[in-house]
Amino acid sequence: MALFDLDGTLLDPKRAFSDVVTDLCLDHGWGLEVKGWLLTELADRANADDFARLRQEYALDIPAMQLWREFIDRMAASVTCDPAVLSGLARLRSHAWKIGVVANGCSDVQRAKMRATGLAGLVDGVAISGDIDVRKPDTRLFRLAAVRCRTELSGDAWMTGDSPTADVHGGHRAGIRTIWLRGRRWLDGMPEPHHAVDDVRGAISYLLDTPAAV
Ligand SMILES: [Mg+2]
Repeated sequence: MALFDLDGTLLDPKRAFSDVVTDLCLDHGWGLEVKGWLLTELADRANADDFARLRQEYALDIPAMQLWREFIDRMAASVTCDPAVLSGLARLRSHAWKIGVVANGCSDVQRAKMRATGLAGLVDGVAISGDIDVRKPDTRLFRLAAVRCRTELSGDAWMTGDSPTADVHGGHRAGIRTIWLRGRRWLDGMPEPHHAVDDVRGAISYLLDTPAAV
């Protein structure tokens, strides 16, 4: 089983979160106050209730669910997935690997990103922190991904990601092997990854040369 992080790993940012919020505000003619509210309230996590609160706070006419869907669509369009990554995942699967996603974030937004980029059809199991309100590096999220891949965590499984804490430390704690995508600052005291690469294509190539761990 090969587990992957989403943001900064399988997915590349095309537009920043703040740009998405700016566009939403421009389209609806909302001022700086609303924009500031959205940037603060949605920064870490977002759900439909946030837009119900926004609607109430600023007496907006538009239904909260409509705003929520607009936000999800815009967030889904804010990322891109390299076609070489999509084909690489398909190759891994053809080599008997199970593919899982372990990501922090809002379930609706992360799944919309996966559908919009074509990733959704290439993975066996997905565990988003919003599903169970447990975030990486908590082992429970890795375990959920394994269950959804119809397997279990074992020492021959791999986690690939760009975060030293969420992905490498998280994978280490979960008892699986790790590949780190260089780029973010390494943190002292973190367990060393088993392998390090420049991007996720390098990780996929490395795994393709590794005996398939189903
Ligand atoms: Mg990441």
